[in-house]
Amino acid sequence: MQRLLILTVLLAAVACQGQTKKVATTSTAVDTVKKIVRSEAEWKKILTPEQYHILREKGTDRPFAGKYYLAHDNGVYKCAACGNELFTSDMKFDSDCGWPSFDKEIEGGKIIQQEDRSYGMVRTEILCAKCGSHLGHIFDDGPTLTGKRYCVNSTSINLVKK
Ligand SMILES: [Zn+2]
Repeated sequence: MQRLLILTVLLAAVACQGQTKKVATTSTAVDTVKKIVRSEAEWKKILTPEQYHILREKGTDRPFAGKYYLAHDNGVYKCAACGNELFTSDMKFDSDCGWPSFDKEIEGGKIIQQEDRSYGMVRTEILCAKCGSHLGHIFDDGPTLTGKRYCVNSTSINLVKK
């Protein structure tokens, strides 16, 4: 009887591990995105100094100043470093935060999130899954149904108009 109990516990532990593994694979979906790996020296050659600062050194555009802050043109917003399609214009909403804001992302693990503890704050940074460039931050205070606010630097994205 006791042996059976031990076996049950063991099985439960294995099942549990299996589940943990499944949870961990949320990021494997991201791993299917073909990554672009470049050295920082290469990025420096490709990007403008401003783009390099924002995208590769996690800089931030001045608020209320970025070229897409008040943009309403239709199209697809792509990563300014690698062209990965991140948002469509219908995901963009007018936000008073000072940066272009989106309430969702194009599906397919194109954006990754990671904790950012810089400047004495705990925020969630968003990065391009393809090239690892810094896009901005995501917050849970969005005014639309998704409740999300992807706060993105204009410098990190390029709008390809329809
Ligand atoms: Zn990218």
